[in-house]
Amino acid sequence: SSRIVAAAEQLKDPDQLIDSVETFIFDCDGVIWKGDKLIDGVPETLDMLRSKGKRLVFVTNNSTKSRKQYGKKFETLGLNVSEEEIFASSFAAAAYLKSIDFPKDKKIYVVGEEGILKELDLAGFQYIGGPEDGDKKIELKPGFLMEHDEDVGAVVVGFDRYFNYYKIQYATLCIRENPGCLFIATNRDAVTHLTDAQEWAGGGSMVGAVRGSTQREPHVVGKPSTFMMDYLAKEFHISKSQICMVGDRLDTDILFGQNGGCKTLLVLSGVTSLPMLQSPDNTIQPDFYTNKISDFLSLKAA
Ligand code: PLP
Ligand code: CA
Repeated sequence: SSRIVAAAEQLKDPDQLIDSVETFIFDCDGVIWKGDKLIDGVPETLDMLRSKGKRLVFVTNNSTKSRKQYGKKFETLGLNVSEEEIFASSFAAAAYLKSIDFPKDKKIYVVGEEGILKELDLAGFQYIGGPEDGDKKIELKPGFLMEHDEDVGAVVVGFDRYFNYYKIQYATLCIRENPGCLFIATNRDAVTHLTDAQEWAGGGSMVGAVRGSTQREPHVVGKPSTFMMDYLAKEFHISKSQICMVGDRLDTDILFGQNGGCKTLLVLSGVTSLPMLQSPDNTIQPDFYTNKISDFLSLKAA
């Protein structure tokens, strides 16, 4: 195919971009913080955008924490962000189930960490699994038959550091044997950056295992799927053309913005370098790129 994609432009006039939108959606890791460390100049930049009347929204594919737990993280980092402005893929999983009127008398089997459980709880759903299945083992005695709960109507799979064979088998039985059972993934990130030292297997690895055993495609609620964008646009009554999506990752953040028809800004403060952006193998080009979000301030002062 000969699809021509205009190369991303280096951001030179942040005011023009700021004036052209009402809302900024910020990805979190690589944009606001790196692990537990705040990125330089973030508080001042967010304050400036708020003083200009911009709506700020924060989206993360990391499902290990709930919206409330992220609220605490923002607070600890000295950022003035409310829970209602935070959209983690853990929250997205619960919001999706609500949006389809998933029955409250059915159960959800969770492969993932605490964040998903907390969000399902808040939304009033019944769940089983999660961290408590982390040390379960299967003993293959002769004639052993693993049982599963027939009331499970959805399996939610997210990043899980306590992933094991028991969970794969349990999720597989629910999806394969319970009629109409849904398979929902918080995200499919191939790798993630738990530490700076190296790349770590991401949420996509757990999702991939269940996909492999069930031969079913998951319904993804995190970036780059359109679910959260549609949800945000509806919740805040914002038009997607009035949004600028800011992220450090091409295949999740920038694609998420582009799938929504938003303006897109790539920051080089996270996982994507300028050579990666400019590689001939890369087909995802944001509208603009810049080093970090505080360039909104320094470029102006220059
Ligand atoms: N999932 C996990 C488990 C992570 O640790 C991270 C980043 O640290 C992500 C996803 C990506 O998060 P974000 O969407 O904020 O970049
Ligand atoms: Ca990121």
